[in-house]
Amino acid sequence: MSFESLKLSSTLERAVKDKGYHTPTPIQASTIPVVLAGRDLMGCAQTGTGKTAAFALPMLERLLAKKDQAFHPGNKRRHANYRPVRALVLAPTRELVAQIQNSCLDYGRHTGLRSAAIYGGVNQNPQVRALDKGVDILVATPGRLLDLMNQGHIDLRNVAILVLDEADQMLDMGFLPDLKRIVAAVPQREQTLMFSATMPDEIRLLAEKWLRDPEHIQVSPAATPVKAVKQSVFFVEARHKPQLLAHYLQSNASTRTLVFARTKHGADKIVKHLIKQGIFAAAIHGNKSQNARMKTLDQFKSERPPVLVATDIAARGLDVRGISHVVNYELPEVPETYVHRIGRTGRAGASGIATSFCDREERQRLTRIERLTKQRILVEENHPEYVNQGPAVVTSEERPPRRGQTSRPRSGGDARSQDRQTVNRATGDVKKPHSKKPRPALAAGGERAPVIVGEAGSEAPKRGNGPSRRKRRAL
Ligand code: AMP
Repeated sequence: MSFESLKLSSTLERAVKDKGYHTPTPIQASTIPVVLAGRDLMGCAQTGTGKTAAFALPMLERLLAKKDQAFHPGNKRRHANYRPVRALVLAPTRELVAQIQNSCLDYGRHTGLRSAAIYGGVNQNPQVRALDKGVDILVATPGRLLDLMNQGHIDLRNVAILVLDEADQMLDMGFLPDLKRIVAAVPQREQTLMFSATMPDEIRLLAEKWLRDPEHIQVSPAATPVKAVKQSVFFVEARHKPQLLAHYLQSNASTRTLVFARTKHGADKIVKHLIKQGIFAAAIHGNKSQNARMKTLDQFKSERPPVLVATDIAARGLDVRGISHVVNYELPEVPETYVHRIGRTGRAGASGIATSFCDREERQRLTRIERLTKQRILVEENHPEYVNQGPAVVTSEERPPRRGQTSRPRSGGDARSQDRQTVNRATGDVKKPHSKKPRPALAAGGERAPVIVGEAGSEAPKRGNGPSRRKRRAL
């Protein structure tokens, strides 16, 4: 498929050529015709798929077609050149807003359409001045937009197209009440487009409420893990995971380690535990203020990075080079997420190490990951005594045991005392029962590995350190 076949006007085609794009990405090929036809859309896609152009190009096209028509009588008092906002794009962070605005400028450079970006954390006056001049496209974070709406600087009566980008991250950051108010302020819109990288129930419910007979488009994430990433798994009881993480970090030399946690609260708990163990660590997730996240990210990019504990959503836009280790503290429910997570390391030809902590409840997830990636993940051999050795004998058809079934050893003394052999699932090597390894530095209470420099306390997250409503507003 070519861009010509998408039937965009020549001004947009020219801009696409200027950008050096030759063929539409899959999400562009499927989304552009739907949006051009005026349909609502629920798109499930990650950043990096070409999603911005997928909605920005047809949005510009539709605005262009009605360039001289939209003018609300209420705007008559404005100056002759005034433009009412006809497209509103909402995004969770100022970086993303700036990125979308830049794309609108690039793709719309020959159209004469105007756009503006609105986000918190900066003086509002230049933004208000841009709004007073009039813009066709407004790209905004929900908090600052609502502030300016409340101050009477924004008139949304002419909005025909509403785009909600990274909807799951907006919910994660607590923007739902703001979103509800904003969506209620544009009841006369003709078209709503919603994009989300994940599809939790909350997003589905919002889509049902806010979209009319939407087209659903999903761009599947990559299923092949980066070859350069060495993968392994520890079978460990959930209660031993904190201990194992500290041990792992202390006994493996790393340049930059990213730990994935399932929840924001979980990420904070992990960081607290690591700091107690003298490990420099910091969390990044949606409850942190924009400034706190930027600061943590800068630290992580520095020469003395903390171990970064992140939720999937917070880590999504993270483009940091030189991540040597990724740790899946919990295995993700969606197997594709695993591929994305471990793809954070081993970038640009560099080798990387990804390890996962798999408890009994998560074994089915591991099976699904192995099925998706068509690879067996190596069971870690260098581990403390509380770590299981994995299944006694594993065949490729092996399924995770049901509750109460004992095909795999349990942790603790009973499992270790059994006279059994284990098979390394990747190599097929038969191993004798677990012989006691030298105890880890942590357990032995000896000197800790010098890999991570202790800065206990300096990064301690405070209780309830999510942004206050006022702070979120500033985003
Ligand atoms: P996005 O997912 O919108 O953040 O886009 C990711 C990157 O892909 C951006 O750097 C875009 O400039 C680039 N891109 C978008 N569409 C195309 C295309 N059709 N061909 C080549 N690059 C593209």
